[in-house]
Amino acid sequence: MTEIIKVDPLNPDPSIIKYVAEIIVKGGLVAFPTETVYGLGADTFNSSAVKKIFEVKGRPIDNPLIVHVSNLEQLERITYDISDKALKLIDCFWPGPLTLIFKRKSGVPPEVSAYLPTIAVRMPANPIALSLINESKTPIAAPSANISSKPSPTSAEHVIKDLYDKIDIIIDGGETLYGVESTILNIQSDPPKLLRPGAIPLEEIEKVVGCVDVSEAALAEKPYQLIAEAPGMKYRHYAPMAPMFLVEGEIDRVVAKIIELAQEDVLKGLKVGVLATSETCKLYPESFNVIVLGSRSEPYTIAHNLFKSLRLMDDLNVNKIYAEGLPMKGILFAVQNRLRKASGHNIIRV
Ligand code: AMP
Ligand code: MG
Repeated sequence: MTEIIKVDPLNPDPSIIKYVAEIIVKGGLVAFPTETVYGLGADTFNSSAVKKIFEVKGRPIDNPLIVHVSNLEQLERITYDISDKALKLIDCFWPGPLTLIFKRKSGVPPEVSAYLPTIAVRMPANPIALSLINESKTPIAAPSANISSKPSPTSAEHVIKDLYDKIDIIIDGGETLYGVESTILNIQSDPPKLLRPGAIPLEEIEKVVGCVDVSEAALAEKPYQLIAEAPGMKYRHYAPMAPMFLVEGEIDRVVAKIIELAQEDVLKGLKVGVLATSETCKLYPESFNVIVLGSRSEPYTIAHNLFKSLRLMDDLNVNKIYAEGLPMKGILFAVQNRLRKASGHNIIRV
């Protein structure tokens, strides 16, 4: 049975954190909130616990995990050759949603990073996550706490739905702050390369390290099989149950196209869902199931609501989903990346 414990995210009860940390140390699996999404954590140095993460998520073994640390001493236990550039980024963005790619020390179980010579690491900013890692006294390997290919969990309810009875504990710390995953930056190349857009905008990183290359995986324009360089990116991600279409272009044309296509579906008797914004939601007929992500002038709200809204489409049992494309800047770059993947690259440009 999975234990569910409510914890105040701003002021976590130390006795509960101690109790949960003991479960990590004993090789258990714990779902916990971070500032991005909920993570499914295990002791990085316990290879059978790490293998269990892959098992319960149904995660392909060649999709490497991100390791979460609470201090630099833990970073040094798992990596070597920490560059000045890395230290500068750490200084600016940790604790926070920036994952950096380092060289992996040989003592780290290789399955953590899918046998790559490198390892992805970040220091989360959520007080529950940070105190749990600190109390466990070990880096915690943690992918998102969802079944692989489903939208990432941004509340304990999402984790319960996907993983109840498969893991030891779920810490319920309320809804996560950002609602999209960390930004992943490969600092082993010069210039560094953005592997995944995330909660920290690319523009903010460039202010610190100058120009950054953007990988094809980050742009997510192509299906995964065509992208060789990004581990883990060849799998379907974030997908709602119904087929999804992402309509990109100038806003008026996007709305017009969605209305045209969705009306045809409704006439065929299909139940249609639309992922819209405050500015556009009133333009759609009432026969569509419209979910509003937020206002285009509040990109952080849109990010916060994204995965919850994709899961809501499942609950509504729609047959088809249309989503409005968003500008690829700031945190909306991350939102667009997730929408492109969730749609299985069914992108309609108007
Ligand atoms: P998730 O845990 O679902 O947020 O996914 C973590 C992602 O981080 C993986 O899918 C990879 O794309 C990326 N990642 C993890 N480790 C590495 C690594 N050593 N090199 C490059 N990318 C990595
Ligand atoms: Mg994930």
